[in-house]
Amino acid sequence: MEALGYGAADMGSVFGLAAHTFACAVPTQLFCDNDVTRSIAERLRRGEAIGANAITEAGAGSDAFALEATGRREDGHYVLSAVKTYVTNAAACDELLVYVKTDPDAGYLGISAFLVDRHAPGVKVGPPIQKMGLESASLASVILEDCRVPVERRLGPEGGGARIFTTSMQWERACLFGAYLGQMDLQLQECVEHARERKQFGRAIGTNQAIAHRLANMKLRLEAARLLLYRASWLIDQGEDATLSISLAKIAVSEAAVESGLDAIQIFGGLGYVRDGAVEKRLRDAVAARIFSGTSEIQRDIVASRLSRLAR
Ligand SMILES: Cc1cc2nc3c(=O)[nH]c(=O)nc-3n(C[C@H](O)[C@H](O)[C@H](O)COP(=O)(O)OP(=O)(O)OC[C@H]3O[C@@H](n4cnc5c(N)ncnc54)[C@H](O)[C@@H]3O)c2cc1C
Repeated sequence: MEALGYGAADMGSVFGLAAHTFACAVPTQLFCDNDVTRSIAERLRRGEAIGANAITEAGAGSDAFALEATGRREDGHYVLSAVKTYVTNAAACDELLVYVKTDPDAGYLGISAFLVDRHAPGVKVGPPIQKMGLESASLASVILEDCRVPVERRLGPEGGGARIFTTSMQWERACLFGAYLGQMDLQLQECVEHARERKQFGRAIGTNQAIAHRLANMKLRLEAARLLLYRASWLIDQGEDATLSISLAKIAVSEAAVESGLDAIQIFGGLGYVRDGAVEKRLRDAVAARIFSGTSEIQRDIVASRLSRLAR
């Protein structure tokens, strides 16, 4: 993901690919338990089907499990009713990983996950939602109206949806953000080159300590965020509880991307602010990173709750 973020001219496409991979293909692969879900996992893995993930609703954003979507079991099917919003890849996908309540009284254990065929009757995708950055990743609402989904398309056990969502977010928060590390690496190189080449007052602007320190801070942020992300990913590989490290890494990478995006604009001056260069676009692409996959505030809550557990 880091190499992809470094090499890709367009972060929106990287984001769309990451949403498919970490919020749909990976959880499907991890939790598939019958021929139908296994075959969908395989098609997602091969890229023969595009995936999306739909949990957010108008009243359930940061409080994702406050969702109102429901699923009622009926003759070998579930009948799903949902109004989901901010669904990345909604218009382009084949499979929607949708979270609904199958037992409204059971709280966390009352949520189930379903792989919904996006072209099935009862599935409607809303018009594209325009956003500040990541333009090439489509975003739309998804409405399910009495949508009949075969029982075999339930991912994991009934009531297992919250666990599936939490697992998928762990992957997304760790791996997707590697792409932002790659972007920041490239951004720093461009800033160093510009600071060396751009001359004002008869000398390169990088010879001014004010500019040089900005570059040093960008490097510091990048390396600190990178180490946190690598550590979180290593913990996942070890099969250890990576929750605390993942949240720390998510905060570090996304906030570094925004701060360094502002620094880059300052170093490029007017050239950084105008629309025809990549400089301001990187900042616009970065701002969303503090919001999706759980906001910075929610990540700090997770960190704090883990600290209080450690202190016990
Ligand atoms: C580009 C993009 C792509 C997305 N893709 C998807 C997708 O594919 N599928 C999907 O289901 N969703 C997706 N989302 C939705 C995303 O997950 C939510 O926007 C996010 O969880 C925040 O929810 P919200 O927008 O309702 O903000 P809110 O929850 O209303 O938060 C507003 C502000 O209040 C703060 N806040 C809320 N609760 C607390 C608290 N307890 N303590 C402190 N501060 C708090 C938040 O941190 C934030 O600053 C996407 C969003 C974006 C921007």
